[in-house]
Amino acid sequence: MTDDKSKEKPVKKPRVLDRKTQEARRRFLRSLGLAAGVVSASLVGFIPVVRGYNPRLRPPGALAEDEFLASCIKCGQCIQVCPVEAIKLTDIMDGFGNGTPHIDARAQACDFSCDGLQCVLACPTGSLSHDTNYPHQVRIGFAELARPDLCLAMQGKGFKGRIRDASFKGLFRYAELNRWQPLPVRGQEFDREICDLCIVHCPIEIRRNQCEAGHPPADDPNQCPPSRAIGLEPVEGGGMRPVIYEGCVGCGACEMVCPVTPAAIVVDMTKNADTVTA
Ligand code: SF4
Ligand code: SF4
Repeated sequence: MTDDKSKEKPVKKPRVLDRKTQEARRRFLRSLGLAAGVVSASLVGFIPVVRGYNPRLRPPGALAEDEFLASCIKCGQCIQVCPVEAIKLTDIMDGFGNGTPHIDARAQACDFSCDGLQCVLACPTGSLSHDTNYPHQVRIGFAELARPDLCLAMQGKGFKGRIRDASFKGLFRYAELNRWQPLPVRGQEFDREICDLCIVHCPIEIRRNQCEAGHPPADDPNQCPPSRAIGLEPVEGGGMRPVIYEGCVGCGACEMVCPVTPAAIVVDMTKNADTVTA
C-alpha cells in the first residue's frame, strides 16, 4: 500500500510580512489612494490644482503676487512671530499657492499689534518686502462696503452688546485695556449710538488718534500722521455710510469686527500692491 500523503506537493506557506514592511505597504497604498483622489478631484474641478490658484490676502509687505509666489519658500517664519496668529498656510485647495502664507480677515485680521511688522522682519527672502517699515505703508487690499443694505450705520442704527459670538476666536489689541496683550474680541462689550465699530477698530484710525493726542504709535513720530483710512459720512435721507479713504491698508480689522453676518464691510483683495499705488 502506497502512502498518498508522501506524493502530495508540499504546501507553500504564505509569506509573513514583518510589522515594518506591513506598515510601509499600508503607507504606500494610502498615499497612492490620496494621490489618485487629488488628481481625480482636480480633474473634475473641485481642487484648483490644474485651474491655477485661489487668490488670497497676503501678509503685510507682500510683493506683487507673481513675485511673491516665486520667492516665498514656505518656511512659515512669518506665521511663528505674529502675536495674533493672523497668518495661516494655504492648503491643497489653493492649488499653485499651496503652502504659502495668507490672512483670512474675517477670522483673524492683522491688527498690527506687533507694532514692528514682525512678519516682515522675519521673512528671510524679502517676499514680505523689507522696504516696508510702518503699518501705513502696507497694502494688503482695500476695504469696501460690499453689503450696504446690511450695514447698521447705513440704516441709522446703533449697536449694543458683543460683536461676535462666543465661539469666535479672533483677537485684537485694545491698547487702552492692555498695551501688550491682544484680547479676545468676543469678550468686549460695546454700546454705540450709531454703529462705528469698523472705524474704532481701524488700526490706521487708531494711529491717527494717537498722533493727534501727541502720543505717536510705538513712540515713533515718523508714523505721524498716517492718511485717513475710514470714516462715517451722512447719507441723504438718513443714516451714515462708512467711507473708505486712500489710507486704508486692507488689514481687515473692520471686516473682522463687523457685527452683522455676513460682514457688511470686507477687504477687496484685487486692490492690493499690484493694482493700487496710492
Ligand atoms: S504685522 Fe504683525 S500683527 Fe500683522 S500679520 Fe504681521 S506679525 Fe501679525
Ligand atoms: S478701513 Fe478697514 S481694512 Fe482699511 S485700514 Fe481700516 S480697518 Fe484696515
